[in-house]
Amino acid sequence: MKAHDGLYIDGAWRPAATTEVIEVVNPADEQVIAHVPAAGAPDVDAAVRAARAALPAWAATPPAERAARLAALRDALVARKDEIAETVTAELGSPLQFSQAVHAAVPIAVAGSYAELAATHSFEEKVGNSTVLHEPVGVVAAITPWNYPLHQIVAKAAPALAAGCTIVLKPAEDTPLTAQLFAEAVHEAGVPAGVFNLVTGLGPVAGQALAEHPGVDLVSFTGSTAVGRQIGAAAGAAVKRVALELGGKSANVILPSADLARAVHVGVANVMSNSGQTCSAWTRMLVHRDRYDEAVGLARTAAAKYADRIGPLVNAGQRTRVRGYIEKGIAEGARLVAGGPESPCEKGYFVSPTVFADVTPAMTIAQEEIFGPVLSILRYDDEDDALRIANGTVYGLAGAVWAGDAAEAEAFARRMDTGQVDINGGRFNPLAPFGGYKQSGVGRELGAHGLTEYLQTKSLQF
Ligand code: NAD
Repeated sequence: MKAHDGLYIDGAWRPAATTEVIEVVNPADEQVIAHVPAAGAPDVDAAVRAARAALPAWAATPPAERAARLAALRDALVARKDEIAETVTAELGSPLQFSQAVHAAVPIAVAGSYAELAATHSFEEKVGNSTVLHEPVGVVAAITPWNYPLHQIVAKAAPALAAGCTIVLKPAEDTPLTAQLFAEAVHEAGVPAGVFNLVTGLGPVAGQALAEHPGVDLVSFTGSTAVGRQIGAAAGAAVKRVALELGGKSANVILPSADLARAVHVGVANVMSNSGQTCSAWTRMLVHRDRYDEAVGLARTAAAKYADRIGPLVNAGQRTRVRGYIEKGIAEGARLVAGGPESPCEKGYFVSPTVFADVTPAMTIAQEEIFGPVLSILRYDDEDDALRIANGTVYGLAGAVWAGDAAEAEAFARRMDTGQVDINGGRFNPLAPFGGYKQSGVGRELGAHGLTEYLQTKSLQF
């Protein structure tokens, strides 16, 4: 796509008040592919004012009409699916096939699910002598990361639109072109001017100005726990609603009765996909001591298959960070069985698929989110030990359990402190609530649970 040199505010592309720009770099070859505006506080203010002005009419629009706009948005995304995949590949670096199958296809499914939910959700209910109204929260500030650039946007914008909220989006610095494509799709879908606004810019400048703007009613943030903590504190001080989707360090628990080869194969694929830049990735594999050596051998073989298939990391800083964790793993005594800190290519921010064995729960690589293609394999003695290790981090975003039968895996999953668990390789469900326990976040996205985040209730007593 051709980058816009403006911001999408009040239904049109407008020049930014500043001349500052962000360079967009292709992480596979380190070439600059575009420039977009780095908005400042006056631009953010203009966008919030537009969203505020559009709120009363959009909030009063019948849900069936909002559903029709969302269906048109889904169709606009479908019409542009190849362009979306190519754009994500250009600015994030993920292999084109993955961009098509995941980065383009999942947001289309999510947009479709909210077209359906807007049409069918009960925005009113009777409770005894009361009528309870589910009304839009108001103006939403959506701040998103780069790792699933379109999905993270749609997971906020689609339910907000369905609820009757208006939106200002501040996407990640590394992936603004996908956000511009989304704004074009919103425009084509006939969403009224001011209902959706896009400001590209730096987190500590545009992001912070947006999160702290008094004209915003709800801040919905996806990103790192460090920034989430700041946003949560500012929102608390202003008594503003806040939703936080943060980091993870999820466990893939392989119980002794499991099909080991399948569990290890799927587990390695899960960690290596999107170059490990998935907040819900199962980066800790827990294996019973009797099957440990076999699992390590299987993981080494599985990881080797990704050596020439994996995309780069998103930027040089992320590569430095991931290599630092690999070096730390070696220094703390973990056994490197695949990959390592050396660069596999001269150009591009690549890191080899890396597997560590003999990882103990206290090691840094078993506790901190790495956000790269790095798997840690830990040994457990019995189920209680496995549960202690699985639950033994500050995070609780996702996880997996494998066992000979689903009931055994489910019994274990019920004891895990985490927001979602895949049982024996259960498929992603775009209608199931997604979000974290503990420091992985506050609130839920997707499906009906995601919609209610954008609603507030009013009770009328008769
Ligand atoms: P980040 O926190 O640095 O940035 C996320 C967004 O916040 C970006 O748009 C950025 O510009 C903005 N931002 C940065 N500083 C800000 C500030 N002071 N005020 C307001 N906005 C600010 O995170 P990242 O590096 O882009 O993404 C990686 C992190 O995101 C990982 O920790 C990952 O686990 C997490 N993540 C979580 C989920 C989830 O659903 N739980 C999904 C994807 C990514």
